[in-house]
Amino acid sequence: MSPPVERIASDDRLPAAADVVVIGAGIIGVCAAWHLARKGHAVALVEKGHVGAEQSSRNWGWCRQQRRARTEIPLARESLRLWESMQAESGTDVGFRRTGILFLTRDPAELAAWEKWITIAREQQVHSAILSPAEIAERLPANRDTWLGGLHTPSDGRAEPSLAAPAFAQAARRHGISIHQDCAARGLETAAGRVSAVITERGPIRTSAVLLAGGAWSSLFCRRHGIELPIGLVNATACRTTPAPEITPGALGGDTWCIRRRLDGGYTVALRGRGTVELTPDLFRYARAFWPTWRQTRKGLKLSLGRAFVDQLTRGAGWRLDQPSPFEAERVRDPAPDMTLVNTALASLVVSHPELQGIAIAEAWGGTIDSTPDTIPVISAVDALPGFFLATGFSGHGFGIGPAAGRLAADIVTGDSPLVDPANYGHARLIDGRPLEPVGML
Ligand SMILES: Cc1cc2nc3c(=O)[nH]c(=O)nc-3n(C[C@H](O)[C@H](O)[C@H](O)COP(=O)(O)OP(=O)(O)OC[C@H]3O[C@@H](n4cnc5c(N)ncnc54)[C@H](O)[C@@H]3O)c2cc1C
Repeated sequence: MSPPVERIASDDRLPAAADVVVIGAGIIGVCAAWHLARKGHAVALVEKGHVGAEQSSRNWGWCRQQRRARTEIPLARESLRLWESMQAESGTDVGFRRTGILFLTRDPAELAAWEKWITIAREQQVHSAILSPAEIAERLPANRDTWLGGLHTPSDGRAEPSLAAPAFAQAARRHGISIHQDCAARGLETAAGRVSAVITERGPIRTSAVLLAGGAWSSLFCRRHGIELPIGLVNATACRTTPAPEITPGALGGDTWCIRRRLDGGYTVALRGRGTVELTPDLFRYARAFWPTWRQTRKGLKLSLGRAFVDQLTRGAGWRLDQPSPFEAERVRDPAPDMTLVNTALASLVVSHPELQGIAIAEAWGGTIDSTPDTIPVISAVDALPGFFLATGFSGHGFGIGPAAGRLAADIVTGDSPLVDPANYGHARLIDGRPLEPVGML
């Protein structure tokens, strides 16, 4: 079942040309389009389904610096600032609040890892604290569980995934972008070895710069052009509840449940680190690169051998650009939720907080995460094809860094001074065989 996402109108006419074409209108593509337009560029944003309908409306809505890999902290810090200013400038309340994030644990090893992480974060001006059981009790008076400690970041935030991408897209339109939904990009045309046009199902758009922000579809798009992009697909589950008493104004994570307070007075609930990996021929091809992440995360992951495997084998990458592409065949990717996970999470949440007795699931949904081997996104030019750029592979934590990732992508496309050092987000690192940095905290 799809979670509700605000629907916005498309522009009537596809432009014949644009300075930049952004493919994919999730939070990343929308924010990139916004920042490109603010820099004065003519931008066309094309989306095969509708704005924000895939991961960007299906996530938990946590905007966190907390527990990020060292390399991602600067982007997360900048993003929190941009959430504030972009919400204000959009003129829409997208639910962004700096209400803090608190994780709880009973595991001494996890607590020790958090203590180490705090030192790294502090070096980058992110101030988090370890909470003792007494401090947890003070902060969460309704809690009846026993915890060894907590990790608290007061400057972290939350936002409403169903509202953010559509509201920011409308704001970007006021800066001049055109938005084209039900408009899949089938592929690229090149001239003299560089990008010259995007071929969409509604016709071509001439351009010298294309930013692909296609989430779970980016790797397939790249394959059509012989560009390697190792990405694994993981189906995750979340749900929203009926309205219930406020036990936290922000986001709170225990070992068997995670919640985020919603504007509608309910919670978004899920289980941390759980999902189903879609086995594909690509995943076997890139097995060596994915091995360290797999070792670290496999406890919470199931494997599924199904349609994705057959699809990848049978469709190959050679579709014609004058015929319907795989992107038109699935307008909105809508994997089934794993109800065992939401039922388990909700039941253990009520044990921790009996005050929530009677809370019910209003709606559950699945979403497909696009994970790179080192769980760090790619925000980068593609060396093999001048004029082609990537902002993808956000590995299950791209919503919170969306505003800054979009800005960084825009800086890279235009060659402006980058918001943060882009070196950690290069495409080459995933395909040139170098050893990848160990995975950060997830
Ligand atoms: C259950 C769940 C919980 C999560 N929780 C959090 C969280 O709390 N905090 C956090 O920071 N992150 C979270 N994430 C991750 C976060 O949602 C994603 O990292 C982020 O939304 C990625 O945004 P995106 O724009 O790259 O991708 P998407 O939102 O998936 O958008 C990609 C868009 O590209 C379009 N597209 C693809 N190919 C084409 C094409 N050829 N032509 C036209 N359009 C195309 C797709 O239709 C899609 O709309 C979660 C994810 C899930 C699934």
